[in-house]
Amino acid sequence: MNGGQFYRDTWAEVDLDRIKENITSFIRHLPAETGIMAIVKANGYGHGALQTARVALAAGAGQLGVATLDEAIALRRQGMGAPILIMNRIRPEYANLAAKMDVAVTVFHKEWLQEADEALEEGSSLTIHIKTDTGMGRVGTRSLADTIDLLQEAQNYSRLKVEGLFTHFATADELHSELFQHQLTNFKEIVSELKEQKLCPPVVHCGNSAASLMAPGDLFNVARIGISMYGLTPSNEILPALPFALKPAFSLHTRLIHVKKIKRGDTVSYGATYTAEADEWIGTLPIGYADGWMRRFSPGAEAIVNNEKVPIVGRICMDQCMVRLPYEMEVGSLVTLVGEKGGHSITMDDLARLAGTINYEIPCLISSRVPRVFKENGRISENMNVILNF
Ligand SMILES: *Cc1c(COP(=O)(O)O)cnc(C)c1O
Repeated sequence: MNGGQFYRDTWAEVDLDRIKENITSFIRHLPAETGIMAIVKANGYGHGALQTARVALAAGAGQLGVATLDEAIALRRQGMGAPILIMNRIRPEYANLAAKMDVAVTVFHKEWLQEADEALEEGSSLTIHIKTDTGMGRVGTRSLADTIDLLQEAQNYSRLKVEGLFTHFATADELHSELFQHQLTNFKEIVSELKEQKLCPPVVHCGNSAASLMAPGDLFNVARIGISMYGLTPSNEILPALPFALKPAFSLHTRLIHVKKIKRGDTVSYGATYTAEADEWIGTLPIGYADGWMRRFSPGAEAIVNNEKVPIVGRICMDQCMVRLPYEMEVGSLVTLVGEKGGHSITMDDLARLAGTINYEIPCLISSRVPRVFKENGRISENMNVILNF
């Protein structure tokens, strides 16, 4: 153990209190019969899977969702005991491992059942959620008949326990989406038909963050909350219509490692794409695209130093980038790249716009080279430095 120590001047801060606040807001917003599955895939969207899972559960979430078996195993190995659903397909030959780890898996092929049953050791059983594709076009059964077929087939395997049925929306983050309405209607019909035939699993779920924010009455038993537990809006379109304020938990910080004056006409960084229009103070930051600080952020991105918003200038390198300073600032000065400081703020949405992408992608791509500093109850509770953790 290294205690999560790190020795570089760039780090991300994750305010776990804000994640608790977001979960608490969802609990108030959702009907009492709808529980919360905290989605902590992709290392909790870059926020730290174990730490964010722990506080989400403490705030009232009942279970966790991940994308891969590896992610589920990692949580179990770190002592996480809460129910976990793997929302993507795993290979049937890993069914026994999933059973041993006590994680639920997603199924949408009839053949999968038999292969999984063959892989299961004596005495073990596996929890299953059936995925139906009502219009996302990704994975899932494509018709009511196929869903019925799959559920009936599952009854032949006593060790495969069908606990859940779910679907996923493609356009819940759009206002007035016809596809969303179509998927919801379709799913409701599937559920009522399965209930009629006494085939409906006990746990039914469909809502991601966007659906949970905008259609809280249509979620059945569980809301699968990802992006918004981290305090980010699922889309700019629904931002003005959000039922409560989301509190972003992730901020990104670094320090000036070099400050110099350059002359009018001097250039900065690869390709010499930036030319000083006058004598200028230039600061260097120890963060680059290998940290997930994308090349596409420049030109356009800004940083907050000494309560001033300053522009990133020139190309972002692998490990460093440069800012133009309004006056000479001290080496070691704190620089905020994402977050709030001195009355200024820089958001994931700002960066997403610059990179032509969505806010989801920004924290997911802040790489494992950037240590995470966790804050809880207003103070630092833990550091995580994956690069020294082997
Ligand atoms: C990632 C994911 C979610 C969470 O979506 P958000 O928009 O981040 O809330 C929910 N369900 C499934 C199946 C997912 O893959």
